[in-house]
Amino acid sequence: MSSESSLTCEALLNNAIERIGGDSPRLDAELLLSHVTGLGRTSFRAWPEREVAPDQAQAFRELVAERVKGLPIAYLLGQQEFWSLPLKVSPSTLIPRPDTECLVETALELPLPENARVLDLGTGTGAIALALASEKAKWQIMASDRIEEAVELARENSRSLQLPITVVRSHWFDQIPESGFDLLISNPPYIPASDRHLNEGDVRFEPSSALVAGDDGLDDIRLLVTEGFKRLNPGGWMLLEHGYDQGDAVRDLFARAGWLNIETRKDYGGNDRMTLARKPAS
Ligand code: GLN
Repeated sequence: MSSESSLTCEALLNNAIERIGGDSPRLDAELLLSHVTGLGRTSFRAWPEREVAPDQAQAFRELVAERVKGLPIAYLLGQQEFWSLPLKVSPSTLIPRPDTECLVETALELPLPENARVLDLGTGTGAIALALASEKAKWQIMASDRIEEAVELARENSRSLQLPITVVRSHWFDQIPESGFDLLISNPPYIPASDRHLNEGDVRFEPSSALVAGDDGLDDIRLLVTEGFKRLNPGGWMLLEHGYDQGDAVRDLFARAGWLNIETRKDYGGNDRMTLARKPAS
């Protein structure tokens, strides 16, 4: 009797909540139980005594154990929502962040041609490129990543969401012969190698290739600012995500390379998060 009662939703959740701790133990536990049972999260409150099949209870406990070790909830679910799109994620890519949705918003406000040619560099799951594709059916959107698993994941997300983008494997511009883009957009690695933030929370489990960029965190941004200039049409735009304290440095890099209309914008938390710049029209 007691072993059976431990398989109710309520018992499983309460036990997990206690073990998970942290900021959002109930949400985490409900998401994981919903993932293994296929039941909606609200049903656990409406019907807490509902029994969970033993194999599902076991799968749930295994996921909880991983969460207790700190594994990001997105990797355990294999999914993360971005711009209301359910994206498949894996440990070979960064987990898309809400702050990166601010880049998408900014890109959508730019005065771009109706059939703009766009390149999302270091696309990971394909998040930025797919969000843009979901809003602009006429844009010709290309996305690149250096990591083969990311390229495959971005293609899979493109297929399952039925949002056509072209995904190529390339380290920044190395395998991309084309120029003539109207918008270059990227959430590149920008964390300095010695940053303490790398030992905290989800980032511990994310690929350092997506996070770390040299001693000052600007190695990749430096490359994008100079090489990107050559690949844009006159009057084209570049939009880069960066750290909250890198606005001055990034504006300076753009200014030295001859860009115009250089402007840093904030994320949802009110921190500097991205810088926009335009290539001169002639
Ligand atoms: N914003 C992410 C973080 O600080 C880092 C993303 C990136 O380096 N591109 O967790």
